[in-house]
Amino acid sequence: MTRDDALALDAADPLAGFRDAFDLPAGVTYLDGNSLGPPPRAVHARLARTMSREWGQGLVRSWNTADWISAPARVGGKIARLIGAKPSEVVVADSTTVNLFKLAAGALSLRPGRGTILSETGNFPTDLYALQGLAALTPERARLHTVAAEDLPGAIDGDTAVVVLTHVHYKTARAWDMAALTAAAHARGALILWDLSHSTGALAVDLNGAGADLAVGCGYKYLNGGPGAPAFLFVAERHQAAIASPLTGWMGHAQPFAFEDGFRPAADIRAQTTGTPPILALAALEAGVDLQLQADPAQVEAKGLALADIFVGEVMARCGDPALTLASVRDARRGLHVAFAHPQGYALVQALMSQGVVGDFRAPDIARFGFSPLFLSFAQVWDAAAALAEILATRGWDRPEFQARAAVT
Ligand SMILES: *Cc1c(COP(=O)(O)O)cnc(C)c1O
Repeated sequence: MTRDDALALDAADPLAGFRDAFDLPAGVTYLDGNSLGPPPRAVHARLARTMSREWGQGLVRSWNTADWISAPARVGGKIARLIGAKPSEVVVADSTTVNLFKLAAGALSLRPGRGTILSETGNFPTDLYALQGLAALTPERARLHTVAAEDLPGAIDGDTAVVVLTHVHYKTARAWDMAALTAAAHARGALILWDLSHSTGALAVDLNGAGADLAVGCGYKYLNGGPGAPAFLFVAERHQAAIASPLTGWMGHAQPFAFEDGFRPAADIRAQTTGTPPILALAALEAGVDLQLQADPAQVEAKGLALADIFVGEVMARCGDPALTLASVRDARRGLHVAFAHPQGYALVQALMSQGVVGDFRAPDIARFGFSPLFLSFAQVWDAAAALAEILATRGWDRPEFQARAAVT
């Protein structure tokens, strides 16, 4: 592929216009939108309005007059359209970690005779940690069992209460066949809980089409909701009346402002919320979601897959460094990031960053690059691949300043 081929793809790209909707520094090729999406331009005005008119002028009245109180359900309802859910099935709350904990515990409440939470070895660490914490809290009730991906779905058995899987793996980018795994769980009487952190805003997800039970996902990756943006959770309508939350806070109460001593859960998805929602963060997230909703999900997925494929193809075609291996899947169901393993993976990412190409490093040796379809061009990705190949060919990573590890990689 030549650079002119990439320019031709840009000329025909139906999503090309979205780039101007982002506030990105000049000269930067941002291949880390899968870790922290950049700010949509609309966020500035949105936050300014929430700050001055709503918080500043409206003060506490804005819970009603600016409808702050409905923001978790309203933004959740918008995210629902991106993941094949009904608006009444999604709410914004807490972090992905907290939501995963709550819904895994909720799954146990829906399957009283079963004690196994089944997940994948090498799943994203916070998911495993949250499940370990849940199992440690209720040792007589639940145990966590992890198996390698290739041993799923065979490991689902009559004691499995819930299968907890990340739809797109954070390193390999492999995507589970959501409908097939969901059906396999149901065939054995188990529920399934999907983590959509690397899928939402990237792949055309269809939770209800797959028959999924529960899901959680992240607001600050492909949804561009801002650092530490609140997360979302999905509970299929058929489970909402019976599922119990382990973290019963006042926002999940049927009447939060009745100030009753006893907890009575809301009859709807709000029962899975806990405390006061972060309104400033929700305002930023809503701007990101509103922008995402303007794009056709099928076009988003197709462009992201094409960008990732071009990057891998160009790096592999040019690269003479036998130490570099592809660590993400290529000709398989997959998400929108790419991972290369290299003994100097950290220094490689730093060297690229010094040229304005931003990726990230995942221990022990993975250089990872995400291909957010809304703000990247084909020519940028082609240039980034050329830059990476050049660094590898010239050992451009071999400088002391590229070795110093920062706290966040
Ligand atoms: C990014 C990510 C998270 C993030 O969890 P936080 O609670 O927001 O820190 C969780 N799970 C997966 C699979 C992720 O990719």
